[in-house]
Amino acid sequence: MNPQAVSALLAALLILAIGVTVWLRNRRDRTNGWFAAFSLTLAAWQLCTALAATSSDPLWHWLVLWPAAAIPPMAIGFFSAFLAQPSIGATYRRPQLTLIATALVLLALIYSQVGVHLHDQLWFQIPFAVYVYGALYLCVGMLFQQYRRSTRQAERARLRYLTLGGFITTTFALSDVLPRLGVGWPTVGNVLAVLYLYFLAQTMFRSRLIDLNELLGKMAVLGILVVLLSIVYGVLLAWVGSGQEGLFLLNALTASFVILIVFEPIRSSLEANVARWLLRQRKPLRTFLDFRRGDWIATSDLPTLAGRLMDALEESGRFTDAYLYLIAPDGNSFECIASIGEAASPTLDAGRLRELTDRLKVGVINTEPAPRYARRGATDERGSKAAELVLGELGATIAVGFVGYPDPGADVEPIVFGFLAGRDARAVAAFDEDDIAALQGLARQAARVLEASRAFEQLKARERLAALGAMAAGLAHEIRNPLGAIKGATQLLMSQPDLRLGGESQEFLGVIVEEVNRLNNVVTRFLDYARVDHSNAATHQYVALNAVVKKTAQLLAQAEEHRNCAIDVELDEILSFVDGDAEALVQVFLNLGLNALQAMPQGGTLTISTHRRNRSRQGFGRFCEVRFVDTGAGIPKERMDNLFIPFFTTKQTGSGLGLAIAQRIVSQHGGTIEVSSNVGRGATFSVLLPAGQTQAEAATSPERRAETP
Ligand code: ADP
Repeated sequence: MNPQAVSALLAALLILAIGVTVWLRNRRDRTNGWFAAFSLTLAAWQLCTALAATSSDPLWHWLVLWPAAAIPPMAIGFFSAFLAQPSIGATYRRPQLTLIATALVLLALIYSQVGVHLHDQLWFQIPFAVYVYGALYLCVGMLFQQYRRSTRQAERARLRYLTLGGFITTTFALSDVLPRLGVGWPTVGNVLAVLYLYFLAQTMFRSRLIDLNELLGKMAVLGILVVLLSIVYGVLLAWVGSGQEGLFLLNALTASFVILIVFEPIRSSLEANVARWLLRQRKPLRTFLDFRRGDWIATSDLPTLAGRLMDALEESGRFTDAYLYLIAPDGNSFECIASIGEAASPTLDAGRLRELTDRLKVGVINTEPAPRYARRGATDERGSKAAELVLGELGATIAVGFVGYPDPGADVEPIVFGFLAGRDARAVAAFDEDDIAALQGLARQAARVLEASRAFEQLKARERLAALGAMAAGLAHEIRNPLGAIKGATQLLMSQPDLRLGGESQEFLGVIVEEVNRLNNVVTRFLDYARVDHSNAATHQYVALNAVVKKTAQLLAQAEEHRNCAIDVELDEILSFVDGDAEALVQVFLNLGLNALQAMPQGGTLTISTHRRNRSRQGFGRFCEVRFVDTGAGIPKERMDNLFIPFFTTKQTGSGLGLAIAQRIVSQHGGTIEVSSNVGRGATFSVLLPAGQTQAEAATSPERRAETP
């Protein structure tokens, strides 16, 4: 077999393997399908070339033109599909024109076999080559055009590599024709084609810039290794010369031995060098973050800001993973609004992050080991152990908080209303002092934008109220005692017959008692709000929610508001138990039930039902739901955001604490309250609590503690 045939055969096998692997990854994907078809055509062409080179049958020289003629539509089809991927975003066009040209070429080929032999003639071969290679250059042109259009850094890099690689590969493949024209030229086109296809296949699955750089690094290591090792082989084998079989074997053995010994050290030193080179390519974070500052000032909506921030981080290539979390308007959880790299959990409980957020009020946390080249002066970059642990759980090594002040003048604690956490999984000490300073600058900038947002306004209001609440709780306590005295004294007056108070005076005293009662009620509820802490596991039991709901319905039926309303109860009989405080849950359900009844003064129906659910706002899991559906006036959209804020009420005698207390209790149980409403038709309040033991488990468990309140 001549070298050309061997190289074509090997190329055919490798190309086929690459094509099949891509296809197996996702058989339904259009781009993968086109890639497989394109590689199959190339492999068929290489195979026929190998056969044509070994066989003397002229039929092969004709047959080889068939797969060659199929290359243009396949190549154009594939690159159109590739460029139409959502991340790149070009429009997909079917290779219709090319298909017509292909049909004409195939007709000519058939005619060439049955009629006049055209394919041996130079005047047929040259246009044929122009047709095939022209199409390949057209593909390179498509890549280049999209490269110029593309605005995203990662895509630009990918398209730049692909355009350049495509151009070099096509040109070398074309130059393989030279030996046929009698020009001495090494045939490297096949090797390059295989490498290019491999690179192309890899970039289809790894579109991120950092992955591309890594891939490039790996390919560089591989390439240099192959060259070095073939030099060792080449030198040792060339030295033997021909005709000395024994020596050949001996030298081949020696060469293999040498290679095995030097392979490991060479590889690791090469890898280290390439990694160092890539590291040197790192740009300081500041370059990317400063550049974007101007945009940020002009941005006030959060999603855009978050998107731009992540783009900047991705472009910097300095993070393999980064997550941006912002506090939810109710202040109980953090929501992930943007991320790069590994998937982040969509919501995190604010309580669980307390250590971390407290620590972020002071500054950046960096849990990486200090780099050798830099003195890390400030110890305050290291968090407390607990904070570092939380950061580790998030899969990050560095975090910076967005800190705001609810009331700049007053002595109120700052709030961390968001944070950015991330890491560079490829390096041990990825961030230096400059980077940290840049991140701090970024955090200040972002905090300013966020501070102006509506969500933060709400949060500030809450925090201010909470601070006020703590103060007022003391005050409330002080009010209750004199109230008791006033009430007692008034009742005493009313019961003194010798005072001879007239009907009117008695009435006034009655008013005093009534108002004192009301005041006492408000103060008690307020203290409830300030004090409630039902997160204590010691008071928790396995609670059968259905029993709690039945009990609530009985209590509601006795309420004055019940007069015009019907109460329906629909229970899911195989509901799990929940871990909680039954008394506190009755309080929650009573609040929701009374609100619903109060929303239907003209009458209506309150339906209380229980359900099993497998997702809530917090994500997937097993939850028990208690749902209150009323047919009242509903809740206008603008009121929705305020429902849970303490003292928010629309009722004349309301305290505005019912929902705030309910939410507090539910979140202390690890649950959430979801509200939806159709104005004019009614409102739905759903309490979602994490499910505990199932009934079957409870029946077999010795420490069954299911309780009915
Ligand atoms: P209060 O009941 O003392 O006003 P809450 O915190 O329980 O305090 O409720 C706050 C406000 O939410 C109510 O004043 C009312 O405007 C609204 N609300 C609560 N539940 C409903 C409901 N089922 N339908 C309509 N509005 C409701």
